[in-house]
This record gives sequence, C-alpha cells and structure tokens, in this order.
Amino acid sequence: MPAPTSNPSPAPAPVPAPSPNAPSPNATPTDELVTATLDQLDDTFRCRSCQHGITAGRFAIEVDGAHAHTFRNPVGWSFRLGCFAEAPGAAVSGTATYEHTWFPGYAWRFAHCGACGNHLGWWFVGGADAFAGLVLTRLM
Ligand SMILES: [Zn+2]
Repeated sequence: MPAPTSNPSPAPAPVPAPSPNAPSPNATPTDELVTATLDQLDDTFRCRSCQHGITAGRFAIEVDGAHAHTFRNPVGWSFRLGCFAEAPGAAVSGTATYEHTWFPGYAWRFAHCGACGNHLGWWFVGGADAFAGLVLTRLM
C-alpha cells in the first residue's frame, strides 16, 4: 500500500521529560526498569516450569543474617528459600497471615509465577519491610 502523501503525519507528540525532582511518592522507577529488562539481565532467576523471569541475583538480600534459609512447614515439607528484595515477575495471592510464619514479625502471602502460576514461594511483609522468600529449587 503506498504511503499517503496528501495527508502528512502529524508532528510526533512531545515525549514528557522525566522530572527527577518532582515529588512522586508512588513512583517506582527501579521496579519499572526491572520489569522491562528482567529478561535481559544476566543474573535472572527464572521459573523452572516456564522460564518466566521472576527475580535476579542483584536483588538477593540477607534476612536474619543469611540469604538462604531451610524451613519445614507444618506438614513436613522442607524448603530451601532464597530471600530477594524484589520479585518483579512474581504474582502474590492470598490474605497475609502470621500463621506458622518462618520470619517472626512477618506475615506471609503466596508468591506464584506471574506467567504460569506455579507456586514459587512466599511474600513476607513486616511493617514497611517486605521481601520474597522463593524456593530455590523451583527457580533456574
Ligand atoms: Zn512459570
């Protein structure tokens, strides 16, 4: 199809310039950047079921003095959890509860793969602090 010549395209809309000094209490530029680039990072942890990017090694944190923790749940399953400050590729579900929590003072919700829904671990929230505890054997 020939390009229309009698109807020139309008001028491109001006792109709003980022205003780093503007107050933006809800802005999470780092999160947005991570979501956009998680697939390009070289230290991405992926869902073992579907390879969806979940988090990255650069978000690994220590909680109670260690990144990885081994826990056993009330029905006897043992989990090796890695703690991450961010898990942009995970979806969180369920009501936060302190029941059987592995981190005193932190309530937990379920963390799933944002693509296939596989259960990957838990999202822990304690006051203003929050982190993901992900089952390392379910990531790759
Ligand atoms: Zn998945």
